Amino acid sequence: MKKFAFLAEYLREIGILTNDNLFTPSPMSLALLMKVHDAGYVRRFVRGQLSPKEIGEIGLPWSEWLVERTLRAVSGTVLTAELALEFGLACHLAGGTHHAHPAYGSGFCIFNDLAVAASSLLEQGKVERVMILDCDVHQGDGTASFFANNKQVITVSWHCEENYPQIKQAAGINIAIPKGATDALYLFILKSRLANLLEQYRPDFIFYDAGVDVHQNDRLGYVNLTDDGIFQRDLYVLKTCRDQSIPVAVVIGGGYDRDERVVAKRHSLVHQAAKQIVGIL
Ligand SMILES: [Zn+2]
Repeated sequence: MKKFAFLAEYLREIGILTNDNLFTPSPMSLALLMKVHDAGYVRRFVRGQLSPKEIGEIGLPWSEWLVERTLRAVSGTVLTAELALEFGLACHLAGGTHHAHPAYGSGFCIFNDLAVAASSLLEQGKVERVMILDCDVHQGDGTASFFANNKQVITVSWHCEENYPQIKQAAGINIAIPKGATDALYLFILKSRLANLLEQYRPDFIFYDAGVDVHQNDRLGYVNLTDDGIFQRDLYVLKTCRDQSIPVAVVIGGGYDRDERVVAKRHSLVHQAAKQIVGIL
């Protein structure tokens, strides 16, 4: 997909991405990846030995370039988390591969960057209670399966029940967004639940998956947010984290449009919201 490059290009155009605030992830540590994911699955993917069934479930043709891109994106989420700890807020230009399970990938997701980065912070003792706040239109089923029995990570998925995956995970907190929900209803649900969840779980770190497949023109999502609705959602989440001094690492999540420049602009809304938050304080 070209949207990642277009996103970087657009953020430079509007003056949000500069050489001073751009950080480049180092190659992914396979040792870390194999601690979080099934080691055999990691090995088979890297060596190009996944079965046709496994490749079919992922939905992306294997290539060496896919390996490079996949590992780099996961490493980017690990870096984003480290930067969020340092600066309070950091935004990735990729990430949010939340359908990846411990031993298999699905729905265009190979490794679960959110699970890897959260596990990395926890293992280093840098955080104690992580919340993964997933606002992509699809359920973060892979992420939920990673942390079903982990009391240090609470997964919150706001998703449309009618969207992929067909079989939902019961673990974690799942909040239904009705099919066809517009800005007002979506924001009402978000605002009526988020503060309580933070109060209840008191996370000391948040991963925010700002998927834009909730947009009314998205090819896959069944929710009808406008650009402004997405911007208001992102602003509200980031401001709430900021007000409570909880470091937040943002990943872009899903977004699907035939015109990848259009979807890249949608993804930039969270970076624009982040800039506004940083600008206010
Ligand atoms: Zn999605």
